[in-house]
Amino acid sequence: MEPVRLDLPADLGIGQVNAYLFTQPEVVLVDAGIKTDACWEALVDGLALHGIAPADIARVVITHTHVDHYGLAGRLVAESDATVWVSELGAPWLSAAEALWHERLVYYRDDFLRHLGLPADVVAVTLHGLELLATRIDPVPAERIVPFHLDGVLQMGGQAWQVIHTPGHASMQTVFYQPEARRLLSADMLLAVTPTPVVEQPPPGAGGRVPALPVFVRSLDVVEALDVATVYPGHGRPFTDHRRVIARQRERITQRREECLGYVRAGLARVPELLDAMYAHQPPATRLAGLWMLIGYLDLLSEAGLVRQEVIDDVWNYRAT
Ligand SMILES: [Zn+2]
Repeated sequence: MEPVRLDLPADLGIGQVNAYLFTQPEVVLVDAGIKTDACWEALVDGLALHGIAPADIARVVITHTHVDHYGLAGRLVAESDATVWVSELGAPWLSAAEALWHERLVYYRDDFLRHLGLPADVVAVTLHGLELLATRIDPVPAERIVPFHLDGVLQMGGQAWQVIHTPGHASMQTVFYQPEARRLLSADMLLAVTPTPVVEQPPPGAGGRVPALPVFVRSLDVVEALDVATVYPGHGRPFTDHRRVIARQRERITQRREECLGYVRAGLARVPELLDAMYAHQPPATRLAGLWMLIGYLDLLSEAGLVRQEVIDDVWNYRAT
């Protein structure tokens, strides 16, 4: 069966987020909204339209562990016998959410944000926003979590869906592909507009931060190669012609990367001045998405050998090579 889109309200300036429902042969919900009363009510109403109550859900499948996609999973398992399925990389964000969020906030506060040279008030607002995010989930008891492999197969709607690991927006993100019906549950990997490459704390044992936008661009190759009729994204309406959407995003990324290079060549060396130049059209309070993109463009330019990073007084400076 075709996944049924449930259009849920998300705050945080995100607008809305989707969950997808399969009613047969068992009730499966893909993604679980954000932990707000409004989102819970919309989810319950959306399920009721299809004759489903939260208690009927057998499985909740999570595409990626961002709070707008798994915030209500804990409440759903509390009100049903459902298990929560998530990739093996995402599972710790359900079972040890508090510890991982703490680690991420410490990384942002003591490491990442310190090197950007942003004004103290911008850092404070950013950290506060991230702390709020961490409250928009309920923990899921470990015995209710079923981790799946990054190249596994999930049964949903009476069909086998391939799990495909597509890091970039989130390192643990998976999309689900049904080859016979040519359907792609694309999570936040493929949206109508490019998702943000969110900066994450370095994985254990890694030397440093994984550059997210270069990784995202490689994941686009993987998605582009799939034979897809309909894309069911994590935000917005389903769409067709995924290769046209991907081509447009690549074009935009290339264009903005070149603009960024232009500013660096003109002598803008630090993140605050680059952010002002690249995101002058956005009010400073909502520039977190812009910050993720800017770091992404700088990562792309560094990878291409077009800029290099210099640390001056503990702050990153970028120079054209
Ligand atoms: Zn999302």
